[in-house]
Amino acid sequence: MTVLAVTEHRRGELRDPSFEVVTAGRELADALGTDLHLAVIGGDVEGFADRLNREGVDAIHTVAEGEEFNHDVYTQAVTAMAEAHDPDAVLMANTVNGLDYAPAVAGALDRPLVTDAVAFDADGTLEVTREQYGGKVETTVEVDADRFALTIRPAEWPAAEGTGDAEIAEFDFDLDESAVRSDVKGFEEVGAGDVDISEADVLVSIGRGIEEEDNLPLVEALADALGATLSSSRPIVDNGWLPKNRQVGQSGKVVTPDVYIAIGISGAVQHVAGMKGSDTIIAVNTDPNAPIMDIADYAIVDDLFDVVPELIEEFGGE
Ligand code: FAD
Repeated sequence: MTVLAVTEHRRGELRDPSFEVVTAGRELADALGTDLHLAVIGGDVEGFADRLNREGVDAIHTVAEGEEFNHDVYTQAVTAMAEAHDPDAVLMANTVNGLDYAPAVAGALDRPLVTDAVAFDADGTLEVTREQYGGKVETTVEVDADRFALTIRPAEWPAAEGTGDAEIAEFDFDLDESAVRSDVKGFEEVGAGDVDISEADVLVSIGRGIEEEDNLPLVEALADALGATLSSSRPIVDNGWLPKNRQVGQSGKVVTPDVYIAIGISGAVQHVAGMKGSDTIIAVNTDPNAPIMDIADYAIVDDLFDVVPELIEEFGGE
């Protein structure tokens, strides 16, 4: 009996959800009383397997096939691993990649698939918590099957830490080339040349409180002073003041920086869905009752046009 958690990488780097599926996988394996196995497919499999050898991992299966994610390769490899090891659960991340191959794996294995879990309780019948309507409604899905597949929402579980002593072995796998119909030709950045806010350690994030585009240089100066990256709520992007890839939230990006400074952002559920996993949240808002205050670790209840210049002066910007 096992839980098989599938990891992912892009352009030679393991993605954060790879370490999160380890934590969630361990939690599930403990509840089911089983081992945790990881699947590492493609790219620098040996290097990835070493890095993923975290506390609580019992075995790592590698498949040295392809450099980048490929739907057909992942589907075939994960299906073959599941057929060989008969895991109770196949656990995947609810990422762009996961959403691509998880349904195919579940279909090939004839297992129920529950997507986008934000929590689960596996004592007895597995109960999976999902969020709907931008986090306004929580539903519980009861999984009445002893073999199932599950995807977990990124940034809901912490990254696994510690060093493990998992057995790392190449999985005996023959790719059926004739069934590989897709090929990754390359990557195109959204807003080429722009930054990836999901990689930033410190985010200065702005909302409608900034009032007009002409005020952007003020917050850019703060971001410079702090060595931070600028992100925003949706209205800023809708207004065309920042590109779409700077948007945090349900229809933007999920971010988990060390520090998230929300300036003139109310904290609507759709925004919070994208940043609640931040380590430290600082809110600057004139409204002490703004919803962002419920999740802020620190708050400055004041006018941003007074606060931001003071912060810039304090932290040595121009
Ligand atoms: P507001 O809610 O207008 O808040 C502005 C805040 O600034 C207020 O709290 C106010 O007190 C404060 N303020 C004003 N002036 C000052 C000042 N001078 N100094 C300090 N504070 C000041 N939103 C997202 O952000 N990301 C998403 O991905 C997203 N996806 C969505 C998906 C759907 C399907 C829907 C329906 C909505 C989505 N939204 C998203 C929109 C979301 O519902 C909110 O409308 C949006 O987050 C509000 O942005 P805001 O906080 O910047 O603006």
